[in-house]
Amino acid sequence: MSLFVLGRQSDPRSERGVECPGDLPPASDPTLVERARAAKAALGDRVFILGHHYQRDEVIQFADVTGDSFKLARDAAGRPEAEFIVFCGVHFMAESADILTAPEQKVILPDLGAGCSMADMARLGQVEDAWDVLADAGVAGVTVPVTYMNSSADIKAFCGKHGGVVCTSSNAKSVLQWAFARGEKVLFFPDQHLGRNTAVLQMGIGLDECVVYDPHQVGGGLTPGQLQAAKMVLWKGHCSVHGRFTPQAVDDVRARVPGVQVLVHPECQHEVVLKSDLIGSTEFIIQTIQKAPAGSKWAIGTELNLVKRLANAHPDLEIVFLEEHVCYCATMNRIDLPHLVWSLENLVAGHVVNQIQVEPETGRFAHQALQRMLDLPGETAKD
Ligand code: SF4
Repeated sequence: MSLFVLGRQSDPRSERGVECPGDLPPASDPTLVERARAAKAALGDRVFILGHHYQRDEVIQFADVTGDSFKLARDAAGRPEAEFIVFCGVHFMAESADILTAPEQKVILPDLGAGCSMADMARLGQVEDAWDVLADAGVAGVTVPVTYMNSSADIKAFCGKHGGVVCTSSNAKSVLQWAFARGEKVLFFPDQHLGRNTAVLQMGIGLDECVVYDPHQVGGGLTPGQLQAAKMVLWKGHCSVHGRFTPQAVDDVRARVPGVQVLVHPECQHEVVLKSDLIGSTEFIIQTIQKAPAGSKWAIGTELNLVKRLANAHPDLEIVFLEEHVCYCATMNRIDLPHLVWSLENLVAGHVVNQIQVEPETGRFAHQALQRMLDLPGETAKD
């Protein structure tokens, strides 16, 4: 995978924390909203702005569509007339949009520092090493690699090359069924929690049939015998937001808010999910709250920007954030109004900034893994 920034080739992971080239407007500029409106109007149909559900309100207000990463990538693919896709989300999402859109469309990430700590927990070299470990244990030939959407393009390409597939938090069960129809084992990365929760709670696989592969230990910290006995080999990765919700927080909120229903994302730890009432993707969480009867009480375990937005949109419900010690996704939050204004105004001036371009061969194999997911029955109708 490569990334080109104003003619300079660089690795996005080393770009984190680097300021945008050129003048970034100060956050205190009182004309930012007006400037964003004017730049968007000047670009007209040439620009299509995508806003992930976890983005700030100040950014979401300018999004043409909102959604989770998969829905947004598909929405982008459905707008071939848009010359510029401005992705208000994180790096792996912009890569997926680049893979699924036409070659002439340019995908822009307003701040290159907007990465994903979970996606960074599975690097290509580490995954290739893990595959060698599986081969040495004699099980690579019966293992299907499955990567969560929240992974870099080169990891998706690895899956494409090795007969594997991509999944989202909404379709992980169907994807695992597909994988187990083709192999005896699944190597699931980067999120161990989504893999475990789906395998155990939706597929009936035993906890004792899941092992955790630690890329920082020799052989993943597992013996060949453990790999041979396992059905699910879970990568030791997690979301730095969802992974922080604790079982104690569920107990505390139940004591604090009698009658509360606890609704969490499957990236939460298994012990948290076991104590919750409902588990589902971001889209499932939104739909559950939209359908909830007036007066019902909810504690939600997902990103704080979304929970606040749901609480504001549904004043007839009592909505609380599950855990007081969990905060916003720091990398998602890097996309703010100054960066959005800066990107749009550069596009108006004819400067394409922060374009995300997946190297063609990587994109081709990553597309194969995405296409296998899209070809699953019923998948096109899903968010
Ligand atoms: S919420 Fe978690 S998975 Fe999503 S971008 Fe942030 S760190 Fe990555």
